This record gives sequence, structure tokens and C-alpha cells, in this order.
Amino acid sequence: MSSNRSPMEGMFIAVTGPSGSGKTSICKALLETFPHLRFSVSLTTRQPRPAETDGKDYHFFTVDEFTRRVRAGEFIETASVHDHLYGTLRAPVDEALAAGRDVLLNIDTQGSRSVKALFPDCARVFILPPSWKVLEERLRARAQDGEEVIARRLANARGEVARLPEYDFAVVNDLLE
Ligand code: 5GP
Repeated sequence: MSSNRSPMEGMFIAVTGPSGSGKTSICKALLETFPHLRFSVSLTTRQPRPAETDGKDYHFFTVDEFTRRVRAGEFIETASVHDHLYGTLRAPVDEALAAGRDVLLNIDTQGSRSVKALFPDCARVFILPPSWKVLEERLRARAQDGEEVIARRLANARGEVARLPEYDFAVVNDLLE
């Protein structure tokens, strides 16, 4: 992934965007459309949501186990997002890239920066909602988080969008299709 990367190796596509921007749906659609893409399943210490499957959407871990793996050097990057820990595992990603697969990451702004610093060829994409109003409506419509969580996610979104100029691509997600 550095400048001496073999042309046969895959590359990173890092998708970032505020909670409610629709980036997870976009990642799912990309994976269905481009079968050569491999999704990097992150580790997280947050609780699974009802529709999520352990090992597919995330690997759900305790803080102790997550911290042990950090010390063991198992991550490319880690970040604390909305009071929970998230991280990208090194081994599955290395394996996919070496096999010539492009790897799709769904990560926050901190993780996106870390990956870019390590792998400058990484393509960074920022997903934007059409407006702040729509973002708030989407977060409420999900009805999976309480008021306090929604308010925190909206506040965090302002900080995330401020980093938009760093990105290679910006996509306004008004209609998923
Ligand atoms: P959620 O809890 O809503 O699934 O994700 C919260 C945030 O964490 C999202 O911005 C998501 O992109 C980010 N995220 C998920 N996995 C990782 C990861 O492995 N590393 C980093 N840095 N952020 C992640």
C-alpha cells in the first residue's frame, strides 16, 4: 500500500461519515455490487444492535479483551467513538490485500486519518447527509438510540463534517440508489 506496493496488491477504500449519513447501507450496497471487495469487520466494545450479527457486522468484545489485543499489536488503528472502542484488525486486512482484494473500511474520521498515514494510496470517501435536518430525522427514525445518544451523535457529526476537506471524495447520500 505504500509507493512500493506490488501492483497485484489490493487497496483500501475507507468510507467515513456521520452516524445517520447512510454509510453502512452504502457499504452493504458496494459489497453486493463488487464481489471482489472484502469488508474489514471491526472489533467494538459497544453492545450489538438487534439486527446485527457478531462476526459479520462487528466482532463484539469486552473492554478487557479489546485492550489485550491492542497490547498484542493486533490492530492497524483504534479509536474511541461515542464512548466506545473500535478497531481494525491487521491480520485479515493484510491477507485480503496480499490476495489482491480491495478492502472496504467503515471507519470514523480518526481511523481514516490513521489509515491514510500508514497507507497513503488509500481512497478516502466522506458520506454526507443532504442536510442537518435530514440527518436528525434519520437518527430518530432508526429508533434504536435514546435522546441522549442522538444528541451526542448530532454534536459529533458537526466535528466530523469539519474534516471534509481532507477527503478524496465527497458523496451526498440523498437517495441510496
Ligand atoms: P456504530 O456504532 O454506529 O456502528 O459506529 C460508530 C462509528 O464508529 C462510525 O463512525 C463507524 O464508522 C466507526 N467505526 C466502526 N468501526 C471502526 C473501526 O474499526 N475503526 C474506527 N476508527 N472507527 C470505526
